[in-house]
Amino acid sequence: MTKKELTKEQLLNYIAYFLISASILFTTFLLANNKMIVNFFSDSENKSFDYRQSLLVKHRHLKPSQDIVIIAIDDGSYEYILDRYGEWPISRGVYSKIIDRIEQDRPKAVIFDLMFIKSFKSDAKSDALLASTMGKYNNVYTAINFDNQSADVRTPVKLPDNLSVRLNNQSKKVDIERNFGFSNCRSIISEVYNTTTKIGMININRSEDGIIRQVPVLAYYNGQYYPHLTLLAGNEILNNGKEIKEYTIDKHSNLLLAGDYKLPLTESGEAVLNWYGTSMYTYKNIPFHKLIKSIEGDKSIEHYDFKDKIVYIGTTASSLFDTKSVPIDKIYPGVEIHATYMNNLLDKSFIRKSGTVTNALIIFLLVITVTFIVFNSTSVVFATTSTVLLSSAYYLASYYVMSFYNLWIEVVNPLFVILVTFAVSYLAKYLLKSRDFEHQYKLATTDGLTELYNHRYFQDMLRKQIESARRYEQEFSLIILDIDFFKNFNDTYGHQVGDAVLRTVAYILKKNTRATDYVCRYGGEEMSIILPQTSKEEAMINAKRICDEVAKTPLKVSNGEECHITISLGVSTYPYDGETPQKIIEYADKALYYAKNHGRNQVGEDETNG
Ligand code: GH3
Ligand code: MG
Ligand code: MG
Repeated sequence: MTKKELTKEQLLNYIAYFLISASILFTTFLLANNKMIVNFFSDSENKSFDYRQSLLVKHRHLKPSQDIVIIAIDDGSYEYILDRYGEWPISRGVYSKIIDRIEQDRPKAVIFDLMFIKSFKSDAKSDALLASTMGKYNNVYTAINFDNQSADVRTPVKLPDNLSVRLNNQSKKVDIERNFGFSNCRSIISEVYNTTTKIGMININRSEDGIIRQVPVLAYYNGQYYPHLTLLAGNEILNNGKEIKEYTIDKHSNLLLAGDYKLPLTESGEAVLNWYGTSMYTYKNIPFHKLIKSIEGDKSIEHYDFKDKIVYIGTTASSLFDTKSVPIDKIYPGVEIHATYMNNLLDKSFIRKSGTVTNALIIFLLVITVTFIVFNSTSVVFATTSTVLLSSAYYLASYYVMSFYNLWIEVVNPLFVILVTFAVSYLAKYLLKSRDFEHQYKLATTDGLTELYNHRYFQDMLRKQIESARRYEQEFSLIILDIDFFKNFNDTYGHQVGDAVLRTVAYILKKNTRATDYVCRYGGEEMSIILPQTSKEEAMINAKRICDEVAKTPLKVSNGEECHITISLGVSTYPYDGETPQKIIEYADKALYYAKNHGRNQVGEDETNG
């Protein structure tokens, strides 16, 4: 019977474990499929990236390139332009003058973060002048913007073939067509197409939270690929000014660039920027109007030298609304984002996001560590402190990994996993502990052979019964019994059979007592039963029934033979037969002795009473 009970208990345990695991898996599945939760996690991860970047920028981990210069149409320049030319945008002849001036110094590149679109204000003569000036040099770049405007609103233009590049995409993850495929394009003035091929895509996507963390590399339009403006210029700079018409994305989603640089791409096919500093303080800004004045011979303006510089021309004026939010700054001019993009290309410092394998490995190690901490620490305070320290250490590590390796390892998922592991480990620890405690308790209070309560437990229980019976003025009885001629039985059939008989007797006792009675092995082949709130008469009846039951139970011995044994019993009752454990046991013992002396197989009377 005991074996059967254990399996039942085990089965229940297994079912419980199964249910717990299943519900954890199910919850995880639900969480992973809930868009709100997933967004919450990825938003938090993005914020943690922003936080790390802000700290890094404060500690100036990356040195901004001194070669990047921005000619800024800032608020002052905008005022000047309105005063002087009376309108924005200005006549394109002005840019022609600026290009010629900068090119005198032999810069590495002149890049317009401006789009020369068709407009009613443009005049053909100055457009033609700008286009021919651009065409004079092989390092003047300008922008074009793709979108998905309906063809009813604007007929998509056919771009000249020589603007596009070939793409050899070996990555299974990066899909430029899907993520950066466009159906329409805002055309720029056609004169420019005729003089230059240095025209790059200028689109930038915001993250879900409106912050720009990453920049595209290629756009797909009309079956062709077009490089991003800064990538186009930067890659040619890396290639010592030589034109590049072929791009490759390798198996590991790196964009292969000149100078053996592998630019890591995200799954959306973008490059994650590493930031250098907050707006206005990072790159040398030359106000547009000062450059104009200096070109026109104003001697009060400092001399500008553009030798080997990469010169961006773009708007930073707040009134021109070309500002964006970036990880390190709420308001950041678009042209400085381009400068940062260029700077990442120059020093090969784009951020690489940790891959699935790395993430899984990190989580695995953290789970192991937290489980180890919880299971091996004796104090909750120590385990909690260690886990908090581990979390902080991990966060700090993520900061240094970004600083030294430009690697973005996840922190939100791992920290969440640490929390869950901590809770689950504690739960498991206490479940195991309580099971262990139950086991220890059972070992300490029961007898291994018969699974009855042991002698020590019997003594404890007897004391407690006396206490409670005294307090509530109740009676209780004790039966002590001893197997008759058991020595002979052992000698005849062997100790193994003797043991089996002891177990059978124990079983009969249990079956013939109430659940509230305590059946104990007193020692050897003697057993005792404490019967709470039981009178002498009731106890006698019970003892007699047990005596008969044992006598009539056939016992299987060797080779199918059956035999019978008998027992002798003695009964005593509190408080009549004694008020201390010794007295009560003594009285029952005497009664038992009486039974032995009067033919055994009976319930004895105390001789003094009898
Ligand atoms: P009686 O009580 O009727 O006077 O005779 P008895 O033969 O039972 O006498 P006694 O109490 O002296 O003998 C006890 C015997 O019980 C001795 C021992 O062989 C046997 N015994 C005690 N404990 C165990 C046990 O755990 N297993 C087995 N097989 N036998 C036991
Ligand atoms: Mg005995
Ligand atoms: Mg005996």
